Amino acid sequence: MVGGSARAIHDGIAAGRVSAVEVCRAFLERIEAVNPALNAFNLVAADRALARAGEIDRRRAAGESTGPLAGVPVAIKDNLCVRGMRTTASSRILDRFIPPYDATAVQRLEAAGAVIVGKTNCDEFAMGSSNENSAYGPVRNPWAADRTPGGSSGGSAAAVAARCAPLALGSDTGGSIRQPASFCGVVGLKPTYGRVSRYGLLAFASSLDQIGPIGTTASDAALALSVLAGPDPADATSSRQPVPDFMAALTGDVEGLRIGVPRAFVTEGVDEDVRQAFDEALDTLRRAGATLVDIDLPHATYATPVYYLVATAEASSNLARYDGVRYGHRSRADGNQGLKEMYSRTRDEGFGAEVKRRIMLGTYVLSAGYYDAFYLKAQQVRTLLRQDYDAAFEKADVVAMPTSPTPPFRLGEKTDDPLQMYLADVFTVSANLVGLPAISVPCGFAERSERLPVGLQLTGRLFDESTLLKLSDAYERLTDWHTQRPT
Ligand code: GLN
Repeated sequence: MVGGSARAIHDGIAAGRVSAVEVCRAFLERIEAVNPALNAFNLVAADRALARAGEIDRRRAAGESTGPLAGVPVAIKDNLCVRGMRTTASSRILDRFIPPYDATAVQRLEAAGAVIVGKTNCDEFAMGSSNENSAYGPVRNPWAADRTPGGSSGGSAAAVAARCAPLALGSDTGGSIRQPASFCGVVGLKPTYGRVSRYGLLAFASSLDQIGPIGTTASDAALALSVLAGPDPADATSSRQPVPDFMAALTGDVEGLRIGVPRAFVTEGVDEDVRQAFDEALDTLRRAGATLVDIDLPHATYATPVYYLVATAEASSNLARYDGVRYGHRSRADGNQGLKEMYSRTRDEGFGAEVKRRIMLGTYVLSAGYYDAFYLKAQQVRTLLRQDYDAAFEKADVVAMPTSPTPPFRLGEKTDDPLQMYLADVFTVSANLVGLPAISVPCGFAERSERLPVGLQLTGRLFDESTLLKLSDAYERLTDWHTQRPT
């Protein structure tokens, strides 16, 4: 039962072949069986989930309409607020925070009938690419226990790959939905900036953050996005752009679509198996009728440094609110001499090493004298990068790259070297800097004997998730990578 897509589960419940409670029980049992080894969940909300599932069954029996995700179990990244459910962002500073409200994304999922099974582990405040920056310990990759599931939404991706839920929410500031999806062999979609309300997402870098779905098929990503998308009065940056029928785009027809390939950018440091899987995926799409065109992204090599300037600057500002006064952890140390001391001890005790590093970097690049040299310069390069993409989208409908330059790396492999960890984001950060939608879909395995998943990343025009979903769905019809399961 736990193997099916969200759509299949919804249809089975709607047709009365299985009840929402039976589905919920099966997934909770699955979580109980595999989570001790994976550590993908910070919290499992079994009783609440069963009660909600029972509610769906009652409403169905009464002939009431139940919604496009009725009875579908979902896992929620632990940086999204769920009313009454402990929400920590995997940080000690929030270890007792119980939000009094729902994130809009969460509220929309529940209104569509989805059943929340728990909160997933992630890098602290979504800062990381390996899930090792969590106060609750790393998540293990379901394909290989000694490997990282990616980050920061590692728990969400691992949970979906291990069939603890058919669908999960992640957040993506510089790749945190796509890279873990790639590492865990599942589908992850970062929508256009503003497509999904960020209300109730614990902010990391507000000009880059976006919430999106992780699932096992492009069609489930489309289904989830149709529920999540749309304006929200509680988030002034949410877009009023009309929300198209994403499911209607899944025609299987890619004839004439132009796929731009930035060959010069996809060279250095790309693992040989990743390159081969990438080339084969492009070839598959070409044989299905798409056209490959060469494009140039001359400023993409600066995307990683630009990202780590902009993201840390915004983080240092966003995280200033965690001061021990209004909510979250407060230092009770005896030696606290006054307010300032309490602030600094609270933050010292509450934040982990990577979060502190980012706050310091961000404060530095925003400080007088360095602002122009770093922050302002980064924003200028960001504009150049946008112009690169504008030019690319005159020649191509989407841009293709590997999601990650390497297959899932080993736990501990990059923890002593933050720079190496940051370089893992080379192909994902530009979509966030420009606001573009991007998706990662499974496209093969590296080190085939070990079966380490590889992802294909497609980036689209602003608000054109439809073309990404169409291509991804068509690719899934031609290949069976997305159907493979870890043992
Ligand atoms: N790995 C990137 C970082 O550490 C991206 C994180 C994210 O998208 N939340 O900042």
